Formats: sequence, C-alpha cells, structure tokens
Amino acid sequence: MAYDQNNIFAKILKGEIPCNKVYEDDFALAFHDINPQAPIHVLVIPKGDYVSMADFTADAPAELVTGFFRAVGTVAKQLELVEPGYRILANAGVNAHQEVPHLHIHIFGGRPLGPMLTRETL
Ligand code: AMP
Repeated sequence: MAYDQNNIFAKILKGEIPCNKVYEDDFALAFHDINPQAPIHVLVIPKGDYVSMADFTADAPAELVTGFFRAVGTVAKQLELVEPGYRILANAGVNAHQEVPHLHIHIFGGRPLGPMLTRETL
C-alpha cells in the first residue's frame, strides 16, 4: 500500500494539524489519542512515511527503527506506566481495523486493562 501523504498523522507531523504532544525527538512524536480507550491512551508515530510495521521494519533506516522503539519505551517511562503496567498495540490493515495509514503504536494504561482480546474475537 502506497503511503498517503495526506493522512491525518502526516498532517500532524507537518504541523498542519495540532496534537496534544507528550514527547518528541528526531525519530518519533507521541501525542494523546483524540478518542481515548483508557485513562492514558497515547500514540507514538515514527518520523517517516511508513504505513505499518511491515514496510517500516523492511524499509526504514536502522537508526529510525531503533529510535522509534526507544521512544515508545521512553514515553511509557515518562508517563509513569512501567511499574503499574501498560499495553502497547499496533493495528495493521483491514482485519486489525487500522484507521490511520501511518504506523502508530498505541500505549494504554492508567487502569487494569483486562484480557488482551475478548472471547468473541477468537
Ligand atoms: P487505528 O485504528 O489503530 O488506526 O487508530 C487510530 C487512532 O487514531 C484512533 O484511536 C483515533 O482515535 C486516533 N486519532 C485519529 N485522529 C486523531 C487526531 N487528530 N489526534 C489524535 N488521535 C487521533
């Protein structure tokens, strides 16, 4: 799938749309999800044109792959989620209901999160 330069996270990265920023470095930007599914729900996105994990891990420079994953860990620490625990999730493609075609990792926390998937989804 070709990267859509006009997707909403591309616009956030370009500064065309505001976000509630949590963290930023050379490799990643993290911001609060506009429709939170947990008391803490933050999205971490890489600074590059990648749709999902497959093209990111295949095509991104090693420095960006490392920097992005480091940023996810840094944000979890910054949000004080390491000790109580948290969940990370990345939707990819139609079956996962990916809505925004720019790679993003969700960080959920702030309460016990229950089982990973509901039984109906098996
Ligand atoms: P996904 O289904 O994994 O693609 O999730 C996309 C997420 O992006 C959803 O949780 C949305 O609530 C969130 N979202 C969409 N637009 C924005 C926005 N402008 N700022 C912050 N989060 C957004």
